[in-house]
Amino acid sequence: MSIENLDASNLALIDAEIPVIIGDGVGPEIWAATEPILTKAAALSGKKLAFFEILAGEKAFKETGSHLPEQSLEAIKKSRIALKGPLATPVGKGIRSLNVAIRQKLDLYACVRPVKWIEGVPSPVKNPSHVDMILFRENTEDVYQGLEWAASSEQAQDLINYVKQRFNVYVRPNSAIGLKPMSEFGSKRLVRMALKWALKEKRTSLTLVHKGNIMKFTEGAFRTWGYELADQEFPGLTVAESEAAQGDTRLIVKDRIADNMFMQSLLRPAEYSVLAMPNLNGDYLSDCLAGQIGGLGMAPGANISDEMAVFEATHGTAPKYVGLDKVNPSSLILSGAFMLRYLGWNEAAELIHQALKRAFAESIYTYDLARQAGCVEPVKCSEFGRAVFDRLS
Ligand code: NAP
Repeated sequence: MSIENLDASNLALIDAEIPVIIGDGVGPEIWAATEPILTKAAALSGKKLAFFEILAGEKAFKETGSHLPEQSLEAIKKSRIALKGPLATPVGKGIRSLNVAIRQKLDLYACVRPVKWIEGVPSPVKNPSHVDMILFRENTEDVYQGLEWAASSEQAQDLINYVKQRFNVYVRPNSAIGLKPMSEFGSKRLVRMALKWALKEKRTSLTLVHKGNIMKFTEGAFRTWGYELADQEFPGLTVAESEAAQGDTRLIVKDRIADNMFMQSLLRPAEYSVLAMPNLNGDYLSDCLAGQIGGLGMAPGANISDEMAVFEATHGTAPKYVGLDKVNPSSLILSGAFMLRYLGWNEAAELIHQALKRAFAESIYTYDLARQAGCVEPVKCSEFGRAVFDRLS
């Protein structure tokens, strides 16, 4: 399986048993709403889908003493596919992100997030239908690699002394220190996946999003490596924006500095299609774009390598809503539909999209969308799940 299968029914699977991490916080609530929808959609299209739980997060810690048991990682490796709810990470202390750990340990090097408005979903922007982008975010490097040391720690002090001695660079004493590694290999494989997908889907452009004016040798290099890869590996199929003629039918490769891209995504979203970017930019920009199509409750995602894929809701554990049966399960439902497409089960995925559309057309909204729409009484998370389930046909 690979990203190239995203819209191809080239897997002969008619049965699938998929490991699922239900997750922390609102994870159990959104999963309870999602599971029946996925299994019914599969059944309606003549497939048999089942899930088995694997542990990660707080539940795993309670039951096994480990937040991320080796057994769970092994189950994903064996199945080569999984679905996952949100996992909590404390700020400024405690365990490092389990989400990042899963991505790094399984080398799921691309975080892939399609951002497309669904008719009937209230949005804060005038033309949400102009938003149809897919983000490819590098998932294993950058400041997310976890190379940072606390202020006043021995390690931070050693690094401060080292850069003073070796490079004659002054860093304020007792500063915290973080490193931002970005490699040619890591950047190029991410851009390669995005370009292959863009070409296969006949998209019009791929935009490299970077902050290379400031971080010249990391983010600036990401831009250089991206253009280089397009040129070397996809000659004749791609063209740099600066060299494209009017009406050029090749895939246009362009780049935007990240701060400008945030503005462009609001003012001229129709001009952007496939986006490839380093880790931190992708984290920020995907939530920003999710806001335009209704919010984090509407944003699906996946972490993908050439070998396997873990599909997950873009949002976190939404701590203030835990146990209230309130949040929007659509992000996980759509991540499940994305997973079905990856399996080549396009018909099942399409049924889910249609059922969601029908629910939204009747203004059946959880609190987040009702708040945006105004004057609509919100339904609960479980009621929304039931409404979508009932509209699957
Ligand atoms: P969050 O859990 O994504 O929630 C931020 C806000 O987004 C919520 O307060 C809510 O907005 C909205 N939201 C999130 N999920 C929603 C849903 N299903 N339906 C409707 N609205 C939803 O982010 P956070 O509060 O910054 O982070 C909480 C924890 O989650 C942290 O431990 C963080 O590390 C973790 N996290 C995990 C993942 C992951 O597992 N992949 C991703 C991000 C964060 P309103 O308040 O406006 O209603």
